[in-house]
Amino acid sequence: AKNSGRNNWVFYQRDMGEKIVQRREMERELREAIQTDQLRLAWQPRYDVRAARVTAFEALVRWHHRQHGILMPDQFIPLAEETGLIGALSDWVLLRACADARRELPGMAVSVNLSAVEFSDKGLPKRILAALEASGLPSSRLEIEVTENAMLQDPDTTLEVMLAIKALGVKFLIDDFGTGYASLNYLRTFPFEGIKIDKSFIFPLSDSSQARQIVENMVGLGKAYSLSVTAEGVETVCQMEQLQQLECDGLQGYYIGKPQPLAQVVAQYGAVSAS
Ligand code: C2E
Ligand code: CA
Ligand code: CA
Ligand code: CA
Repeated sequence: AKNSGRNNWVFYQRDMGEKIVQRREMERELREAIQTDQLRLAWQPRYDVRAARVTAFEALVRWHHRQHGILMPDQFIPLAEETGLIGALSDWVLLRACADARRELPGMAVSVNLSAVEFSDKGLPKRILAALEASGLPSSRLEIEVTENAMLQDPDTTLEVMLAIKALGVKFLIDDFGTGYASLNYLRTFPFEGIKIDKSFIFPLSDSSQARQIVENMVGLGKAYSLSVTAEGVETVCQMEQLQQLECDGLQGYYIGKPQPLAQVVAQYGAVSAS
């Protein structure tokens, strides 16, 4: 193995070169995908425990790639963040989500995911306002989900940007709550309306009393800060019952409903929202 070192280096170089070419190619394709409407939204319902019905949907992006089929966000969001394409991608998601919710899901709230890096863009409030105005969606029906990482990088700008967006009437939810590295101090400083407990805490709920204790503590923490508490990743009726006992406000997960194309969601929930 030792004396093949030189050959390894050659291969290594060639691989690296290929990777860079692949990345450039994918970047070019993603830019084109945003411009030519190859992106789609999948809509996942969120169940409101007190209202005993679905009152909101989370819009999740997919890339319908010509050769590779449907790509999931984990396969292209990191690239979008690194190349700066995330801004254009989010503008597409914001406008599509607001317009679809306004036209097809009367009375429902719509939740959009924004990357932490976008909160260092002081133009973000204006971009969100543009989507609201172009769609006619009342700002009270738009929610933005952001992970705790947003509070770690450039917290001053992030706070300023968030306050300007909140002033529009848009709400913020902390996504993947419990998995980040931020201290809980930010709950007091930043204008959040609710938390979404990460699914990794919900999955073990059925068979572990320790897991139940942890979720109970998170719900208590949320209540102490006057935040609404949503559980993600609810896959079984057993988890759903326990979360209702623990007085979670919102439930989301495959048991409630999987992410689906708009037409399916409208067929399933349209009548409920109209009543
Ligand atoms: P997330 O915001 O935490 O979204 C929840 C993810 O968990 C979604 O994966 C959803 O399909 C999946 N999920 C929902 N319920 C269940 C369940 O009961 N069990 C299991 N096992 N999974 C469930 P998806 O759609 O692949 O999205 C992955 C992540 O990509 C999202 O995590 C979000 O962070 C990010 N993302 C999605 N859309 C966008 C977007 O438009 N912009 C940005 N910046 N990020 C996005
Ligand atoms: Ca989310
Ligand atoms: Ca999440
Ligand atoms: Ca996530």
